[in-house]
Amino acid sequence: MKKIAMTTPPLTEETAQQLAAELTALAQQEKAKLGAADARYLLKLVQWQRIFAISGRLLMLGCFWSVWFLLPAVLLLALAKIIDNMEIGHNVLHGQYDFLQHRYLNSKQFEWDIACDAKSWQRTHNFEHHTYTNIIGQDRDFGYGLLRLSSDFRWRLRNLWQVLTYFMLSTLFQWGVSYHELAGQRVFFGKKKHDRNTQVTDLELKRAFFGKGLKQLAKDYVFFPLLCWPVFGWVLLGNFLANLIRNWWTATVIFCGHFTEQIYTFKAEDCENESRGQWFYRQMLGSSNFTGPRWLHILTGHLSCQIEHHLFPDLPAWRYPELAKQVQQIAKRHGIPYNTGSFASQYFSVLRRILRYSLPG
Ligand SMILES: [Zn+2]
Repeated sequence: MKKIAMTTPPLTEETAQQLAAELTALAQQEKAKLGAADARYLLKLVQWQRIFAISGRLLMLGCFWSVWFLLPAVLLLALAKIIDNMEIGHNVLHGQYDFLQHRYLNSKQFEWDIACDAKSWQRTHNFEHHTYTNIIGQDRDFGYGLLRLSSDFRWRLRNLWQVLTYFMLSTLFQWGVSYHELAGQRVFFGKKKHDRNTQVTDLELKRAFFGKGLKQLAKDYVFFPLLCWPVFGWVLLGNFLANLIRNWWTATVIFCGHFTEQIYTFKAEDCENESRGQWFYRQMLGSSNFTGPRWLHILTGHLSCQIEHHLFPDLPAWRYPELAKQVQQIAKRHGIPYNTGSFASQYFSVLRRILRYSLPG
């Protein structure tokens, strides 16, 4: 990389080397600690996730007597889905727990409770987004091809109402995530881009999209409602609301980790042949954290520590809050911006960014 994009603070060759050495040493130090504590944490989490899911689904039966059962039932099921997708799914699919060699809690076997096929997500998220973070034109997660979030993109009329597009995307988030790879490969709409590295055929993509999507729809809107026949309608509604809460939550967490106002973007030509230190630097400038109690970190899959996640995507995420203290010190020592704040302040920062770029300029 010749130089970091104009908008980013300069990084000298010497600082890049120091940064690479310090962060690599930090990762190695943490890797040496991996073992029984990680297994205990993950298995306990899976146990709690199942308790929440089962009790949520059972409580829905209570609607036979009183509709008030629906409220705790929906909250418990939403909680189960959030934990499944964030702290278990996202992290297991990153291979963070592969060293445990667990039968199904590993990056090859695990499948999550969401419309997106796990393998498709691994190609677009684990590889594309984590490798090309915030490089315009290479990281499709930056705006998801729907929102204009920086001046790198030409302004279009549809950007005027993009705050509504954002709320719509959040509402349908699991379908957006599931359709992401098909959109990138222009499977149904648009002209094919021949410079894209296609690893799978359009047919395979369609099969995964419809196969997983229909399975999810059948589970939540046919199987479980039929199983609880006298309260069919309430169960259907309850499952719909639980999915909606999960969609809103995951979208909010992800937006707070990548689209706050102080996030930097990069040009592809500036990132050619980038060194390890420059790669770390880009990950730090392209992510934002938010603070909060332990339960909040767990419910975000520790993506509240998005900076650490982007620096060390393979390390078990529950270790990020401790690592964050050291990463913050390293950033401070080298004068590198470290973007963090309360959950509310980061959320409003995201809204301001969406609104700012909905206008030209
Ligand atoms: Zn990730």
